[in-house]
Amino acid sequence: MNKVFFSSLVAIFLFSSGPSQAESTITPQQYIKDRGLQSTSFIAPGKLRIDGTRMICGKRPTVFDPTLDDFGGAFDGFVILNPRLLKRLPKQVKLWIYSHECAHQFRGADEAVADCFAIKRGVRRGWLRKSGMDQICKFIWSAPPSSHHAAGPKRCEMMRRCYKEVQK
Ligand SMILES: [Zn+2]
Repeated sequence: MNKVFFSSLVAIFLFSSGPSQAESTITPQQYIKDRGLQSTSFIAPGKLRIDGTRMICGKRPTVFDPTLDDFGGAFDGFVILNPRLLKRLPKQVKLWIYSHECAHQFRGADEAVADCFAIKRGVRRGWLRKSGMDQICKFIWSAPPSSHHAAGPKRCEMMRRCYKEVQK
């Protein structure tokens, strides 16, 4: 019912908001069980490291799901990362994907908002530089538009604007 699942790029997107999300949302443990994942796929809040950088999303845990059909996703209450797909990407792109999914925890379903939140967080916390901004654009460039996402070049343009805004 009030299940919330956001996706980082183009794939699945199920969203229905309701007044009692907290009660009906799937737990990370249930997700791990349903997907047949190992219990070690659960990463407690504060324990996540991506290429040596500790990443946090408030009190939200992360689940590693190599079977996810996208780089990352977010249920209400936890972030999902696909380590199989992420491992080929540059570090700053990985950190941006995680932060994009984290943004959905705090800012809701809007993809452009999540993109911008992740860029600004990266600059403020010191892990996103010009080189990473370029890598993110390259990564997103060929992504087609969907009902929830602008086309890659447009997303890039909007994120570059967010990057500039936070430089001051
Ligand atoms: Zn998203």
